[in-house]
Amino acid sequence: MSRKHYADLLIHGAAELVTMAAKTNGPRCGGAMNRIAAVKSGAVAVANGRILIAGPENEVMATVKVDSTTRQISAKGRLVTPGLVDAHTHLVFAGSRENEFELKIVQGLSYEEIEDQGGGVLATVKQTREASMTRLIAQARPVLHRMLKNGVTTVEAKSGYALTAEGEIKLLQAMEILNHEGPQEIIPTLFGAHDLPPEYSSRSEDFLSYIIDEMIPAVAEKGLARFYDSGVTFPPDDTAKLFAAAKAFGLGVKVHADEFALMGGAALAARCGAASAEHCLNSRDEDLEAMRQAGVIAVLLPAVPIIHRLGQFVDARRFIDNGLAVALGTDFNPSCPVESLSMVMSLACYTAGMHPAEAVTAATINAAYAVGCGHEVGSLEPGKQADIVIWEVANHLQLCANPSSGLAATVIKKGQIILEDGCPCS
Ligand code: ZN
Repeated sequence: MSRKHYADLLIHGAAELVTMAAKTNGPRCGGAMNRIAAVKSGAVAVANGRILIAGPENEVMATVKVDSTTRQISAKGRLVTPGLVDAHTHLVFAGSRENEFELKIVQGLSYEEIEDQGGGVLATVKQTREASMTRLIAQARPVLHRMLKNGVTTVEAKSGYALTAEGEIKLLQAMEILNHEGPQEIIPTLFGAHDLPPEYSSRSEDFLSYIIDEMIPAVAEKGLARFYDSGVTFPPDDTAKLFAAAKAFGLGVKVHADEFALMGGAALAARCGAASAEHCLNSRDEDLEAMRQAGVIAVLLPAVPIIHRLGQFVDARRFIDNGLAVALGTDFNPSCPVESLSMVMSLACYTAGMHPAEAVTAATINAAYAVGCGHEVGSLEPGKQADIVIWEVANHLQLCANPSSGLAATVIKKGQIILEDGCPCS
């Protein structure tokens, strides 16, 4: 008989344990999104920051060695899941734009009308360019803390509020510092063409060349980004050139696709072998099919059309019923200050047609694959990083039904307890 493995951390007493374990690796597509591998009376054993085993408590206890040095935590009959992964945020910027909220709500202006009045992305670019590194970090840190209280242990973060090589490097360095500081892991994405900066307002072709010749190489040389994301600043064929430049430096590619109108983003994502197409609110069925065939993950953001009052909802069923893999994100940014991914899981169910189990898949394993970490996080399988959440609720149905914030009770990152019964651990 083989010797039992020693567990330095044991979580037991879960009324429901969602492991997300599956026979095959990779994002869960279509019908497979409903399979979350939930067990009743579950336990998770951890050693050296990695999962030893997760499953029914009697099986776990028969498999691992536990002694007086093992840290034991009772889930007290509540839900245990993998740490959530927020697959789409704009975490680091300076300033705020609540003035635009008032214009939107009180005066009824649209996003485009607010941009025409000097608001929108460029208003944040102005404030961000003037900000010190210290200020950028000080503004993002409490956001991460609130995300933690919502069970988020991995956060994708896009730059894009400086639009110069030097400024984008500063934003990405701020993310690197926050990543080292922890407790969450930050996955950095260069969002070089978030918008056309004022100094290039009538010279978009020059800005395209600047990104390709200077910004992408400078960022890549410093190893500051894992992905390159592009919006609708340039026509698809020009954006494809940006992607080629980014890929030449080994960066993965993401697309802000078809948010306010059909702009060819989803089709471009499929053509360019992107890891993900994000938003996809107005993408066509044939583009969805191209994404499916190319293995592009759809990162859906159900809070966005509500916040921007677009008069429509994300329709997740179109994606899932057509066999795609769907992930979720908050789109946290100055005009969409949504920090709770668990609330977004609720919105996905209430407004986007997602089933609760699908929302769990989309916020864990599929989000992990969308940000290039699916081999490390997103499920509680042997050998993976021990990123675990004990929730205040008893099962995933209660979690998805409840749009409240702050439902994570205890959060563990790489085997370390970083939030315990709602209190941060130092
Ligand atoms: Zn975004």
